[in-house]
Amino acid sequence: MIVVMNPGAAEEEIQEVEQRLQNLGFGIHRSTGENRTIIGAIGAPKEDAKEALEVMPCVEKVVIISQPFKMVSREYKPERTAFDVRGVTIGGEKIVVMAGPCAVEGAEAYILAAEEVKKRGGEILRGGAYKPRTSPYSFQGLEEEGLKIMAEAREKTGLPIVTEVLDHYSVEIAARYADILQVGTRNMQNFRLLRELGHTDKPVLLKRGMSATIEEWLMAAEYIMSGGNHRVILCERGIRTFETLTRNTLDLSAVPIARELSHLPVFVDPSHAAGNWKWVTPLSLAAVAAGADGLLVEVHPRPQEALSDGPQSLTPDKFSQMIELLKRVAEGVGRKF
Ligand code: PEP
Ligand code: MN
Repeated sequence: MIVVMNPGAAEEEIQEVEQRLQNLGFGIHRSTGENRTIIGAIGAPKEDAKEALEVMPCVEKVVIISQPFKMVSREYKPERTAFDVRGVTIGGEKIVVMAGPCAVEGAEAYILAAEEVKKRGGEILRGGAYKPRTSPYSFQGLEEEGLKIMAEAREKTGLPIVTEVLDHYSVEIAARYADILQVGTRNMQNFRLLRELGHTDKPVLLKRGMSATIEEWLMAAEYIMSGGNHRVILCERGIRTFETLTRNTLDLSAVPIARELSHLPVFVDPSHAAGNWKWVTPLSLAAVAAGADGLLVEVHPRPQEALSDGPQSLTPDKFSQMIELLKRVAEGVGRKF
């Protein structure tokens, strides 16, 4: 439920409404817009509460949000969410490319990859320090050492860093180093993890679960927002279908739908969708054409030597070629690059 205050409502009036909502058992979240203040009432909507508030002269209207996700929805916040991460605007007019290797494999290789990403137009560095591998015998990541290497790469390139967290332990450590915390597809419905991320001060890149509906994905974002963290980036990364030629099926329809239902920025990861570098560029172009606010792409200077996801990683040269094409598509759909 949201309470829309009259334009120019006084601070005391806003506080009176907030107090009333708290007395009715709601949590509150205030958004101060250019013309008016909106108070989000967090909790199950109550028809009698709507009536009680609507009689207050300082209240313009009370809207019960029909979607199961509340703070995530466009009804709650009609204008798009944009925020700054070390000087990079996420969710603005400009398309943002996050790129780098699947995993941090060592200092020298990672710094080289980071420098290539920067030189070729990536604005945020990706890299996994805690890797959720299907096999317990595969490379599991360098953990804190990997995070230190990423921080060093940020020092050298000036690019912010995004990395995946798996559990309570990795959130605590990664939050000390990273600028954006990533929730992988396998953890999209790890509700305790989502709750914990609701209490961090780092933006969260939330991948869609490989078998999750769009609504379940948005409900996962609601978990994070309901904890007080409003800087969530949605990321479509392909879903499970009967198709076997690709690793997953990129659900491009999720891009315009998530942007219609939610004000949050929507990114696309074409690498984990395709599973093969050859299809990463066409899927990226299609994602931007469909309205994506940015991309998360795997780039490795020597994909054949990668410890994870080499077959879907672009070489720096291929990455440059993709960036050139992306500029044209972005311009074609009225976005900046
Ligand atoms: C990743 O980005 O490296 C990753 C593991 O992605 P996903 O969770 O989408 O499989
Ligand atoms: Mn990967």
